[in-house]
Amino acid sequence: MIDGSKIRAQFPALHQKVNGKDLIYFDNAASSQKPQVVLDAISNYYHYDNANVHRGVHYLSQKATDKFENTRKSVQAFINAKNSCEIIFTKGATDSINLVANGYRSILNKGDEIIISQMEHHSNIVPWQICCEISGAELKIIPMLDDGDLDMEAFENLLSEKTKLVAITHISNSLGTINPVEKIINKTHAAGAKILIDGAQAAPHTFVDVQALDVDYYCFSAQKMYGPTGVGVLYGKKNLLTTLPPYQSGGEMIKEVSLKKTTYADLPHKFEAGTPNIAGVVAFKSALDFITDLGIENIAKHEDDLLKYAIEKLSEISDIQFIGKAKKRAALVSFNIEGLHPYDMGVLLDKMGIAIRTGHHCAQPIMEHYKISGTARMSFAIYNTKQEIDSCITAIKKAQIMLG
Ligand SMILES: *Cc1c(COP(=O)(O)O)cnc(C)c1O
Repeated sequence: MIDGSKIRAQFPALHQKVNGKDLIYFDNAASSQKPQVVLDAISNYYHYDNANVHRGVHYLSQKATDKFENTRKSVQAFINAKNSCEIIFTKGATDSINLVANGYRSILNKGDEIIISQMEHHSNIVPWQICCEISGAELKIIPMLDDGDLDMEAFENLLSEKTKLVAITHISNSLGTINPVEKIINKTHAAGAKILIDGAQAAPHTFVDVQALDVDYYCFSAQKMYGPTGVGVLYGKKNLLTTLPPYQSGGEMIKEVSLKKTTYADLPHKFEAGTPNIAGVVAFKSALDFITDLGIENIAKHEDDLLKYAIEKLSEISDIQFIGKAKKRAALVSFNIEGLHPYDMGVLLDKMGIAIRTGHHCAQPIMEHYKISGTARMSFAIYNTKQEIDSCITAIKKAQIMLG
């Protein structure tokens, strides 16, 4: 069992007043707060270890390099990757997707197809649009059903020998839908295509085993899993990353440079040009240890309890409409209340010290599907409590009276 108050005590940012009220933070799907161990790791790095990685023979450079590479090993273990060279550090999930999409610009030709879905975050839409524009490939879209599930029948009909890549979110950041990724991966492979999964919402809440999934590329962000901003991961199968063209170029990613021709470094360095976010990567290990120590299945259970409780309590609000009622859902709930614009609700709740997210959640095609401009979203993390949900619902009812 998880002791909520003990965990909460480890997050300094949660212990402050906002507009004179105790902060209640329900915007975890956008970014989670950071525990003291992560803050200490950032500070310790700059106090004692700071040097550039992979370059110097001197003491500090070795120390910084060892710590940087230790995080790579932690990530490898966290997602059960076969090789540590299959873990590429990026700026975030967005950057990871761009890395792959950039490579596919020169892999794809006219007549090839990429499949994404209607429920993607803009990060998993726009890079593919640009990739298709440049390569001449065509972008196909899996539609959504009204409950927030993907239309799997439509997906199977879209797959063909023209399909080269399928890029799908594991968990929707707007609806909470958990997509049947095992099935999607199997069908994609059966059609002879490769698959990228956007795991930005899944990595903090579910155990991801990239070997068991047999996924080709898997992307996520440290900042949504109690880690620092500006750090992301691209997992890719070794044989695929070996042939994928480099992304950014410069120092660190080369083997030999002459002014006529350059040869590239081996994995993973081929995709890590320039000086990376060393402090962030080093501190990310502390975030992974934090999750592993608690047990990701315990985290998922706690958040699932909160989700069920929130849905039950929100259902008592008159004129509430839930957006997304997928059969399998993760720790967030999106809703609208008739006569109450989500933006106004967000502003009023903020005045009461409560942070929720309002708007289109970087997923405008979903809003288009439901013919709405946005939703209010509560998303949960390990430090949230049922009392906070009660306070939030009381606040929503107050807002309803004030604006009604
Ligand atoms: C947040 C998010 C992203 C983008 O992550 P960044 O950390 O902003 O790069 C991509 N996809 C999903 C589903 C997300 O929730």
